[in-house]
Amino acid sequence: MTPSGGIGRVRRVTTSTASDPALDVLHRVFGYDAFRGEQAAIIDTVVRGGDALVLMPTGGGKSLCYQIPALVREGTGVVVSPLIALMQDQVDALAALGVRAAFLNSTLTFEARRAVERALVDGELDLLYLAPEALRSPATRDLLDRARIALFAIDEAHCVSQWGHDFRPDYLELSMLHQRWPGVPRIALTATATAATREEIAQRLDLAEARHFVSSFDRPNITYRIVPKDRPEKQLLELLRTEHGHLPGQSGDAGIVYCLSRASVEKTAATLVDNGIDALPYHAGLPASVRAANQSRFLREDGLVMVATIAFGMGIDKPDVRFVAHLDLPKSVEGYYQETGRAGRDGLPSTAWLAYGLADVVQQRRLIETSDGDAAHRRNLAMHLNAMLALCETVECRRTQLLAYFGQSLTEPCGNCDTCLSPPQAWDGTVAAQKVLSTVLRLARERGQSFGVGQVVDILLGRDTEKVRRFRHQELTVYGVGTDLAEPEWRAVVRQLLAQGLLTVEGVHGTLVLTEASGEVLAGRREVRMRLEPARPAVAARTRKAAPAADLAPADVPLFEALRAWRAGEAKAQGKPAYIVFGDATLRAIATARPADLAALALVSGVGETKLDRYGEAVLAVVAEP
Ligand code: ADP
Ligand code: ZN
Repeated sequence: MTPSGGIGRVRRVTTSTASDPALDVLHRVFGYDAFRGEQAAIIDTVVRGGDALVLMPTGGGKSLCYQIPALVREGTGVVVSPLIALMQDQVDALAALGVRAAFLNSTLTFEARRAVERALVDGELDLLYLAPEALRSPATRDLLDRARIALFAIDEAHCVSQWGHDFRPDYLELSMLHQRWPGVPRIALTATATAATREEIAQRLDLAEARHFVSSFDRPNITYRIVPKDRPEKQLLELLRTEHGHLPGQSGDAGIVYCLSRASVEKTAATLVDNGIDALPYHAGLPASVRAANQSRFLREDGLVMVATIAFGMGIDKPDVRFVAHLDLPKSVEGYYQETGRAGRDGLPSTAWLAYGLADVVQQRRLIETSDGDAAHRRNLAMHLNAMLALCETVECRRTQLLAYFGQSLTEPCGNCDTCLSPPQAWDGTVAAQKVLSTVLRLARERGQSFGVGQVVDILLGRDTEKVRRFRHQELTVYGVGTDLAEPEWRAVVRQLLAQGLLTVEGVHGTLVLTEASGEVLAGRREVRMRLEPARPAVAARTRKAAPAADLAPADVPLFEALRAWRAGEAKAQGKPAYIVFGDATLRAIATARPADLAALALVSGVGETKLDRYGEAVLAVVAEP
C-alpha cells in the first residue's frame, strides 16, 4: 500500500518496528523521527476504528492525523475539504511522498473522473479528497458504497458552525456519514477552537462518541505585534524592507497582507509593486482565473507577497509564509488567529503584524450597527469585536491573552510578542477620559449635537477652525481644556474609550455617543487605565537576519541558499510548489548536517524513502560542491 519501488536500498536507522505500523509509515513515507504532541494518540484512536475530534493550531500537524491511519487501515481514506482549489496541490504533495492520492471535484474532466472512480473501486487509492457538496449527490454516495473506506476525515470542521466565520451549509449534511457508513471511523479537524465551537462541531457532525483531542494552541515561533496605525502603507513597507528582506534587487520573504476591502487590496498591492516588491492581489471581485493564477504563483514561487481579503488563505498550506500583516482590524480573535496562523507552519521564526488605529474601531462599530440581522446577531458581532479590541489594547503578553481566549494558559509571559519585548506603560487616563466624555455630553445636552472624533479633538485642543466658529464651539466650557495632550494622544484616548465600551459610535458618520458605562467615569466612580505606546515599537525582531536563514550558523547559510536554488529549479521543472520538493526546515537540517552519503541523508527529518530515492543523489551533489 505504501510505495516500495527501489527504496529498500538504504535502510533508515531508526527505532521503527514492524509492531507499530503507524510509526513505520511516519519514518518510511514522511521521513520524520517522532510524532508531535497528540498525533500518536489521535492516530491510534482512528487506526483502531474510533472517532476523533481534533483541535490543533495551524501548522500543528493535522494532516498526518488522517493520512497515516488512511495508510495503515484497509481501504481508502476519504477526506472532505471545502478547498477545491488546493486539492491538486495536496494530491501532488502526497504523490511526491509516494502515496496514492486523488481528488474528485467539479474541475475534473469526465475521463479523469472516471479514472479516479475506477481506481477507488479497485482499491488503488490511499486517499481521496472530496468537496462537501459532492456528498449530496446520490452518484457519489453509491460510488463510495462500492469502495472500501478506511475513514472519513472532515477537514476545516469549523465550517459547520453557523456562528463561525467560515460557515458552509453543505457541512451540515455531513452528519449523514455516520448514518450511512456507521462502521467507518470519522476524524474531524479544525484550527478554530473555542469551547463553544468545539461543542457545536461535535453536535452537528454527530460526533457524540468521538474522543476530543485539544492541543495547545500556542505557536511559539510566531512573534505577535500590534502597532498603532499611523501611515499604514509606509509602515508596511518598512516592515517588509527592514525585517523581511524586500530590498531593491533582492527577493524577500513570502508573506500575506490582509486588507478589509477589495479597494484597499488593489491599492496596497499597487503601492507595493510601485516600490519594487513582488506583490499580487486576491479578492472575491477578481475573475476566478486571475485568483487561481495568483494563488498558484504565490504557492510556487519564492518570496511573493499576497495582498488579499480574508477570502484568501483557508487551507493554504504553504509552510514558509514568513509574515502575515493586517492593515485593518480583524473582526474576531478567531479570525485573527486563523489568519496569523498561516505564518510559519514550518516552525521557523515568523511575524504576525497588525496595524490598528482609531478609524478601525469607528469603522467596525459602524459596520456592526448597520449590519443586517437581528439584535442577537449584532450582539454576537460586538462580542467578537470587543475581544479583538481587548487584545489590541492589552498591556500584558499578547500570547497569554490569545491563549486565554481559547481557554488555555501560559505559565509565564512569552517573551516573543511586542508587549513582552518592549513593555508598554499603563497610565491613569481617567481625567483625559472625563474630558472627552464631558465634551460629548455637553455637545449632546447643551446643543443637541453629536460629532465625530475630529471635531471633539479640535474642541479639546481649542482650535480655531471654520467648523468650530460655525457651531460656536469656542463657547463651550470644555473648549481648550485638552492642550496637555497632542492630537495623536487624544485620538489614542478616544480609541481606547471606544475599545473599552466607554464610548460608542452611531450612524453612518460615526458620531460619538456615550454609553451606560460613561456615566461612571464622568461621576468619578471608575478609573480608566490606558496604554502608553512605547516610544519605539518592539525592535528585537529587527536585528534578526531575514528568515528563513535566521538562526542558521553563518557558515551554513551559503549551503542553505545553494539548496534553495537547487530546489527552485527542481520545482520549476516539475511545475510544482517548492515545498513539495522539500520544506525549508528540511533544507536547513541538510545544510547543518552536511550528509556525506545516502544513509546520512536518510536520517534528516523530512527525507522519506521516496524523496531519498528521487532526490538523494542530487542533494548530495549540492552538499559536496566546494
Ligand atoms: P496543519 O494541517 O495542522 O496546519 P500540517 O499537517 O500542514 O499542519 O503540518 C505542518 C508541517 O509540520 C508540515 O510541513 C508537516 O509535514 C510537518 N509535520 C507534521 N507532523 C510532523 C512530525 N511529527 N514531525 C515533523 N514534522 C511534522
Ligand atoms: Zn508575550
